[in-house]
Amino acid sequence: MRSCDVLIVGGGPAGSSAAWQLRRAGADVLLLDRERFPRLKLCAGWITPEVVRDLALDLDTYPHRLLTFPRLRVHLGKLHVPVPCVQHSIRRFEFDAWLLERAGVPVEQHNVRHITPDGDGFVIDEAYRCRWLIGAGGTRCPVYRTLFRELNPRADELQIVTLEHEIQYDWQDPDCHLWFFEQGLPGYSWYVPKERGWLNVGVGGIAERMKRGGHDIRHHWAHLATTLAGRLAPGAHYDPTGYSYYLRGNVEVVRRDHAFITGDAAGLATRDLGEGIGPAIRSGLRAAQAITEGKPYRLNDVTGMSVGSIARSMFDRAARAGVLAGRRQGTTERGTADGLRHRDQ
Ligand SMILES: Cc1cc2nc3c(=O)[nH]c(=O)nc-3n(C[C@H](O)[C@H](O)[C@H](O)COP(=O)(O)OP(=O)(O)OC[C@H]3O[C@@H](n4cnc5c(N)ncnc54)[C@H](O)[C@@H]3O)c2cc1C
Repeated sequence: MRSCDVLIVGGGPAGSSAAWQLRRAGADVLLLDRERFPRLKLCAGWITPEVVRDLALDLDTYPHRLLTFPRLRVHLGKLHVPVPCVQHSIRRFEFDAWLLERAGVPVEQHNVRHITPDGDGFVIDEAYRCRWLIGAGGTRCPVYRTLFRELNPRADELQIVTLEHEIQYDWQDPDCHLWFFEQGLPGYSWYVPKERGWLNVGVGGIAERMKRGGHDIRHHWAHLATTLAGRLAPGAHYDPTGYSYYLRGNVEVVRRDHAFITGDAAGLATRDLGEGIGPAIRSGLRAAQAITEGKPYRLNDVTGMSVGSIARSMFDRAARAGVLAGRRQGTTERGTADGLRHRDQ
């Protein structure tokens, strides 16, 4: 049986951030993920300045696609509002693998199924033993399922459903566009360009309200595709995939003795925009600090709303000036208008 002090289940942003923090503090860490990285993760890949700061990310030397937006273009019915601010996009396929490698901890490909409390630690699938356990396995995290679900049930009204596709596409408009409540959608749809000829488009809404209102997400997808075909992405072809996750509710219990849940496992995506990367990273860092520094594990500095972060970046004049001066705005390379799936890369 393999033994370690801290075992992390899941190598997404929550798990790799916890691993990075723990390794820097000298802890003996092992990370298990059922997938081999780089792996597909459905996500628009929009990240905030807080993410950049929490990860101490140097935008100039980050080796993969990273595009900085000097504004968001918000569409609300007939209203089209440019919101000046600084936000970024990455490709999760690249970003997650890079973060995990940077964490510098041993990673094994293993699908965690059984977690058994054992003395002051845990045994995982009769193959691993640890003293501390961090659940960072996303929506279907086995640590949540085994140790937290009964104490912390997820609320149906916070479940969101999405349809999304990331394609190689020679986009011309480098801004991020968001359409809110189009055709009664209880959510929004997006156009998120990535550096060097990639594009992510998608639709997301509250599952229960969609059901109650008789909405079919495929209908909203078709509407988005028609909107994009006009000006933003003529000639693009899509084959979208669905995924569901949970927005932030009253998360009561995120620690039980030596076990923690972080990121989507705890249901931490923001209530307004479903932003989950930042909360995953911050909660992963805080769980690691609880272990290495004996700090309480609290979520009070893990934001539940994205609007505050966007507002703060609106007033960061220096950052906006840097973007407008052309710092890492990215260029496009000619791509095909046909969708290429991540797994083909
Ligand atoms: C369509 C869509 C668009 C989104 N767009 C954005 C966006 O633009 N910006 C943003 O901030 N957020 C966005 N989100 C939310 C964001 O993707 C998640 O909140 C974020 O990925 C959560 O990170 P995590 O580390 O908690 O989980 P994940 O990134 O899901 O990572 C969990 C990891 O655990 C592994 N795992 C799962 N089960 C097991 C198991 N049994 N054993 C071992 N390993 C396991 C998985 O393989 C995975 O690698 C979007 C979500 C969707 C669905």
